[in-house]
Amino acid sequence: MQGWAETEGEVCSDCTAGPSPKNACVGVGTPYQMWHTPDCPQYVIMRINWEAGSRRVEQQQAWAEEVFPAANA
Ligand SMILES: [Zn+2]
Repeated sequence: MQGWAETEGEVCSDCTAGPSPKNACVGVGTPYQMWHTPDCPQYVIMRINWEAGSRRVEQQQAWAEEVFPAANA
């Protein structure tokens, strides 16, 4: 019983990181999770996508407040 990565595919092929306070745990579906080192290329790409996604949400929110000010009053 390792407590992690018991099935193939749970370990990142780039960084092969395991649970550690310095690594990041990324949920990719229940009960499936993957660990990455902070500088893992896959993890960096994921973070870029998350930041791009949250920026889009903020822009949509700003647009909605401009077009429908009453709805947000
Ligand atoms: Zn990784």
